[in-house]
Amino acid sequence: MSRVRKVNSTETLTISPKATDSFKELSSVSVKSKRVRTEDTSEEASVKSDDSDNKEDRLIKMASAIKTVLECLGEDVDREGLERTPMRAAKALQFFTSGYCQTVSDVVGEGVFNEETQGDMVVVRNIEIHSLCEHHMVPFSGKVHIAYIPQGRILGLSKLARIANLFSRRLQVQERLTRQIAEAIMETVGAKGVGVTVECTHMCMVMRGVEKQGASTVTSTVLGNFETDKQVRQEYFQLINSTR
Ligand SMILES: [Zn+2]
Repeated sequence: MSRVRKVNSTETLTISPKATDSFKELSSVSVKSKRVRTEDTSEEASVKSDDSDNKEDRLIKMASAIKTVLECLGEDVDREGLERTPMRAAKALQFFTSGYCQTVSDVVGEGVFNEETQGDMVVVRNIEIHSLCEHHMVPFSGKVHIAYIPQGRILGLSKLARIANLFSRRLQVQERLTRQIAEAIMETVGAKGVGVTVECTHMCMVMRGVEKQGASTVTSTVLGNFETDKQVRQEYFQLINSTR
């Protein structure tokens, strides 16, 4: 059986596996899950202490710092065009990093469903993401491809994109972003396996020094039977590469 559905701007495929899945990796999954849960708990704690007054204070502090940066660039911060730039830039930066104020359970909400599946692989391709590299605080943008094999629980399809957004809206390196998305999906649905591939163009490469206009960076993380079963892994990479 093979079917293709369109979800928002991303493509979704549900396909039957050619490989027999193994349950051996379950123990390693639970170890990884624990680590994700620890991170989430600490995030939740920081969100609770972060009231709106605090958020406002931080905005004012950021705007003042941005004003200093403009002055250091030799700009006249009082000229009309720049008058509101510090606060505008602070708000933009706060939005670009809004993933710090959210947890995986916040974005997934009620979006996990019990569903008997026959080892079908769910693939969502071309989820658009925008993030900031933590080395230069300069954007990197591109696409995420996500696949998983459920065992009893599935995620609402839009939630995969929300998880990708959550981790993108932080200061990141692409390698960590890729792994965090994969581990969050593994933890949330207890999948048999997960594969995540991220393909981005980094403005710090395009705009500075090397200026490699067409260069894109590809990173992949495979967990569970995507890692242990060569056939599953091959099928995953075939699917995400098929129409790129
Ligand atoms: Zn960079």
